[in-house]
Amino acid sequence: MQNDFFNLEEQKTRQLEGFQDAVKHAYENSPFYRRTFDENNIQPEDIKELEDVVKIPFTRKSDLREAYPYGMAAVPLEKILRIHASSGTTGKPIVAGYTKKDLEFWAEGVARICEMAGVKPSDIAQVSFGYGLFTGGFGLHYGLEKLGATVVPFSSGNTERQLTLMKDFKTSVLVCTPSFAIYMSEVARELGYEPSEFGLKIGLFGGEPCSEAMREDIEKQWGLKATVNYGLTEVIGPGVSGECTESRGMHILEDLYYPEIINPETGITLPAGEKGELVLTPLFKEGFPIIRYRTGDITRLIPETCPCGRTTRRMDYITGRSDDMIIIKGVNIFPSQIEEVLAGFREVSPHYRLVLHKQKGFIKDLEVQVELTPEGFSDRFRELEALEGRIRRHLRSTLSLAPRIKLMEPKSLERTTGKAKRILESEEL
Ligand code: ADP
Ligand code: ZN
Repeated sequence: MQNDFFNLEEQKTRQLEGFQDAVKHAYENSPFYRRTFDENNIQPEDIKELEDVVKIPFTRKSDLREAYPYGMAAVPLEKILRIHASSGTTGKPIVAGYTKKDLEFWAEGVARICEMAGVKPSDIAQVSFGYGLFTGGFGLHYGLEKLGATVVPFSSGNTERQLTLMKDFKTSVLVCTPSFAIYMSEVARELGYEPSEFGLKIGLFGGEPCSEAMREDIEKQWGLKATVNYGLTEVIGPGVSGECTESRGMHILEDLYYPEIINPETGITLPAGEKGELVLTPLFKEGFPIIRYRTGDITRLIPETCPCGRTTRRMDYITGRSDDMIIIKGVNIFPSQIEEVLAGFREVSPHYRLVLHKQKGFIKDLEVQVELTPEGFSDRFRELEALEGRIRRHLRSTLSLAPRIKLMEPKSLERTTGKAKRILESEEL
């Protein structure tokens, strides 16, 4: 298996060659890219240096939606062994097809991510991501198998049974969304178990943002080492980047995926270390190649090398996806900003929801519904009112806008076994 300690010069050369091959394959085999490149007067030979990649137009989510279902294919369909589709968190699903080679590279990449997180062939890993069109379940499944770990393919849902088997099977690695890990610890306690006695050692979490507060909560509850990994269907699925045990950002498998950070408004590449939109190009993909994909995810590339010694660059945790950005009264807000403020209050739980009150399609008002912890819950109206006021003031100074706050009773907000749905819309007449 490829490791993540490269000679930097060699790495650049390999990336350039990989990019050139990816562009050539797309140009020669994908009608979509043939047309796009021709329209922009680009030939594969124009990519002589890595700096030349900016000549290639971006691929956007809308391009993939228009290509539904098979418009992005660059091989005859009989060479496609598997199809996945994005979970459709935002809008119409996006289809991805994988050849044998794609599946092999994907599994190997995920295996490397798991290894970086400290997973060993002796581990028993429960995959509690959904199995199905969503890439999470199968992605982690084959990666963990490739690594040699024992896989328990539970899939999502059925929380009580998950817990029973986890205990009986002596599961050491838990794979799921951070929201589900929190929910499972709540259910475990309700059933009278002490989560830290399950013996979980490592958590592989992904699919949605995991704030520091959530990470701490999960680690404390389960007594495990939480690691975060990142990926997306359009590019491959999970396994694009992941944390080593230093927990300081996610190493990108740079020999497989070429990262760029751009200003989301101008499309211009940003200097190293600046925060912007992540653009990714998988360098090996055969079935549904994709070049310079605008992920919509906001992050930065960390310029310093990691104390672990791996030479692959790290990306910072995702602070938001551009689809989730809320524009209200001219102010741009990411749910993660609200989450960070809420995390500072011990009276509230990590569960919250944002309700966008709309009028004629515009967001008129933002309501933050936040759940109290049992300790934070009080019968005294005054105390709750004071808490509400404090939360509101903190949010106002962070967001430059004062949302409505609604304190909810403990355990009243809906729990999820997959990705948390934080944003709701309500149209007012
Ligand atoms: P969907 O767009 O329907 O959610 P995917 O299942 O392909 O489809 O999800 C990919 C998206 O999930 C990413 O673009 C990103 O926004 C989010 N995501 C995945 N992993 C992480 C992570 N570790 N941190 C934050 N967001 C993540
Ligand atoms: Zn590291």
